Amino acid sequence: MAVFVVCVALVATQAAGALKLLQDGRHSQLHSSIDSLIIGALIAGCAGYAFGFRKFLDLKHEQGRRTLAESKADWITYHDFLTRLPNRRFLEEKAPDIVERTFGEAGYGVLAFDLDGFKKVNETVGPDGGDMLLIDISKRLAGFLPESIALRLGSDEFLLIAGCTASNRCENCSDPQQALKLAEDLINLLNTPFDIKGSQISVGACVGLSSCPEHGLRLKDVVKQAILALSVAKRQGRNSYVEFQPEINEDLARRTRIERRLRNAVANGDIVPYYQPLIDLKTGEIIGFEALARWNTPEDGFISPELFIGIAENTGLISDLSEHLLRRACKDAMDWPKQVHLAFNVSPRMLEDRYLGLKIFKILGETGLSPHRLEIEITESALVRDTDLAAAMIQDLRGAGIRVVLDDFGTGYSSLAQLSALTFDKIKIDRIFVSGLEQDEKKSKIVRTTVALASGLGISTTAEGIEQESQLDFLNQLGCSFGQGYLFGKAVPQDQALALLGTDSASAPGLIRRVPA
Ligand code: C2E
Ligand code: CA
Ligand code: CA
Repeated sequence: MAVFVVCVALVATQAAGALKLLQDGRHSQLHSSIDSLIIGALIAGCAGYAFGFRKFLDLKHEQGRRTLAESKADWITYHDFLTRLPNRRFLEEKAPDIVERTFGEAGYGVLAFDLDGFKKVNETVGPDGGDMLLIDISKRLAGFLPESIALRLGSDEFLLIAGCTASNRCENCSDPQQALKLAEDLINLLNTPFDIKGSQISVGACVGLSSCPEHGLRLKDVVKQAILALSVAKRQGRNSYVEFQPEINEDLARRTRIERRLRNAVANGDIVPYYQPLIDLKTGEIIGFEALARWNTPEDGFISPELFIGIAENTGLISDLSEHLLRRACKDAMDWPKQVHLAFNVSPRMLEDRYLGLKIFKILGETGLSPHRLEIEITESALVRDTDLAAAMIQDLRGAGIRVVLDDFGTGYSSLAQLSALTFDKIKIDRIFVSGLEQDEKKSKIVRTTVALASGLGISTTAEGIEQESQLDFLNQLGCSFGQGYLFGKAVPQDQALALLGTDSASAPGLIRRVPA
């Protein structure tokens, strides 16, 4: 810059000198002055060019820096910092164009998934261990499907948008088998243990699927449907996958309707316990009743407890509902003969309540029912959430004389682990093992082994879902002590339960059926 200014000044001085010589008529000196002027102008031109070029380079550099900063800010806006995967904003703002351009014609599938047991991982290996797991998952996803976009939408929620190509094993998303195979492969990929801080960590995953053009043309709609399908899969339990169906929308509308009515129903005590007989398989006597919640609505008739209990759990109403049901059932049980016990289901969510034991003791105190007449049924799936808390709860309940039953045995994935870690008074064999028991050799072997296992542990077994004489005979031969099922009776209201018991002679409990000798 300085050289350029000096040159321009010199040229200007020379030009002024030349003008003066011309005016004075000194032509001989004028020639050399013009030479100097030309040389000066040349130097000034070169310096100007060099200055301009330098300025150009500076500008280019500055522009580069700005573009880099902008693209960095852009990257941060559209990516998850931890896993480096695109985020929800990317999905909303950028993905529609990219997906349309990349997969538009051939179509694509969307797999929405979230992890089962991520909270437990954070508790086991700490939040930094949880972070490592998420990073490892993103690496596994990178190698899963070649032509796909993996996104992280929330803490343990992910999305995979996969083109329908041969290399993605999905040439045609409308073929449900292919799409479901993808979901299975994804679950297997995540089920393979991760090495986190030297520990082998296992997580499960639930997957919801939908595809374009089968379920929608706009990415936004296809993603929404995959997420709806995921919510259904999550209700089905660990490692489930569900493909979107139009009925899911209707199902959701029904759930929303029920959700709106549930709060009032709980407050008004519209949901009541019915009682299903529990039978001594040797004698045919009623030894107890399982309380099963029933909600009869004017609009939709009886609503399945599996549906409204699930909704009550998700909306925080389960505690109030369960307290109401237990109080009512304990009062009813006071009218039964003293040897007839009450079995009551405790929902998985309630086991997370540290005051559950106290709440149960309070209700027993209020109603006067002896703790020895109460059995609490806990499903396996409930126990895996927090084994330590469950162990403490079970100890409290058993310490007070309440019996604790492991419900739906065999349907979870850690039945034996539960049995070794916790102490139960009884095992309830799930009805999937009882249906078709006589024809299915595998099922009969499972039931025989479970009965032997329980007897080895000094506890008894109840078989659920007995519907046929042949099943009853078989279970008797296998040495199962107790049973329950439509063969003996469905759940009935208190007045019918009292009739079954023949409470006119309170000392003689009802005999549902004589068991053939
Ligand atoms: P669960 O505890 O396994 O209850 C047994 C279920 O099997 C009941 O269904 C019962 O009606 C059904 N069942 C009994 N015998 C037979 C049979 O022979 N064949 C067939 N096919 N089914 C039979 P329900 O009443 O629909 O209850 C379903 C589930 O809802 C229960 O499964 C339990 O997990 C939950 N639930 C019901 N009432 C309550 C409650 O008061 N509190 C909680 N937390 N959960 C409840
Ligand atoms: Ca039960
Ligand atoms: Ca059960």
